[in-house]
Amino acid sequence: MNQPKHSIATRVVHGGHSPAAGEPVVTPLVQSVNYVEEVGTSEGLRYPRYGNVPNAEHVQRRLASLEGAEAALVLGSGMGALACGMLALLRPGDHLLASEWIYGGALRLFAEEFPRLGISVTLVDPTGSREWRKHLRRETRALFLESPSNPACHVIDLGPLRRLAAGQGLALVVDSTFASPVNFRPMEHGADVVIHSATKYLNGHNDVLGGVVLGTASYVEEVRQKMMVWGQAPDPFACWLLERGLKTLDVRVQRQNENAMALATWLSGRKGVARVHYAGLPTHPDHEIARQQMSGFGGMLAFDLEGGGVAAERLLKRLTLIRNAPSLGGVDTIVSEPRYTSHAHMSAEARAAAGIPDGFVRMSVGVEEASDLIADLEGALS
Ligand SMILES: *Cc1c(COP(=O)(O)O)cnc(C)c1O
Repeated sequence: MNQPKHSIATRVVHGGHSPAAGEPVVTPLVQSVNYVEEVGTSEGLRYPRYGNVPNAEHVQRRLASLEGAEAALVLGSGMGALACGMLALLRPGDHLLASEWIYGGALRLFAEEFPRLGISVTLVDPTGSREWRKHLRRETRALFLESPSNPACHVIDLGPLRRLAAGQGLALVVDSTFASPVNFRPMEHGADVVIHSATKYLNGHNDVLGGVVLGTASYVEEVRQKMMVWGQAPDPFACWLLERGLKTLDVRVQRQNENAMALATWLSGRKGVARVHYAGLPTHPDHEIARQQMSGFGGMLAFDLEGGGVAAERLLKRLTLIRNAPSLGGVDTIVSEPRYTSHAHMSAEARAAAGIPDGFVRMSVGVEEASDLIADLEGALS
């Protein structure tokens, strides 16, 4: 059913499903949480928390086909996917090596919760394999990273990490939320496990909370067992909405790639803008690796304003179309300041040292007309 012969634009619409004559074109929503079962057996029990009801199974097959994975599991949120996905890999006594450039929720999970479960974690600078190699231990079981990373949109080269993971028998886990499978398919570059917050690009309309874990069928079965007992399953309606949102993933992301490139180009060299973080720009240090590894540069970008925090606040207050909102990946263009969201727990000095000075603005570019977005920015910056 995985139809790998079709391109991704076709698979987002048809992957994993082909209705027969008389069947509806749109997957029906089956909201029932209870199913009549065969008498005298516990085989094949269906229940939403088990991840095996029709709307979950439909969208899981489609997602597996998009990433080129054997299997996929949809969970109630991206954090649910991260927690269950990692708990299916790590046991007490194990060690996790994780990039330090990751989502704030993932940082808290790894730094605060995992040590309590007897899982130790070391955070490393993810550029190049030397840092990773330096912190390897006999107990290390997995490498975890995000690419592009939040919020500075660094693109991490998977090549050296794939060799390190393969040589040491480690699982290479990639949170690919920022890229979506349209722009980057980590399994084609040696990742063993791919995780997404489906809340972002996969659904794309800011109206569903969800997460996905992808990998081999036996690994995904272990994640499902974790999901069942930790209660991280999605509601059937969330799965139905996710499948509906996915159908336009390719057209949305293509448009977001074009818009982000137009905005990044316009912002570079603009008076008042000190720096633009977007790997699509030929001057960006990650441009070459992004060109080799990705099919598109993505809809996320960031920029530093010369006037610092005061200038950022002024800009955000003066924008009329582009709104200040923290999530990402939807059809609406939004901006946010990491100093008030993901990096609020750090001091201004620590943020500046991490490359996120006050005046740093993150932007999730939507599908509007680029010239309207530019006019909004122009009006607010001048
Ligand atoms: C949003 C996000 C998450 C968490 O997803 P939720 O759906 O909010 O639980 C994890 N990783 C990345 C990169 C994200 O952007």
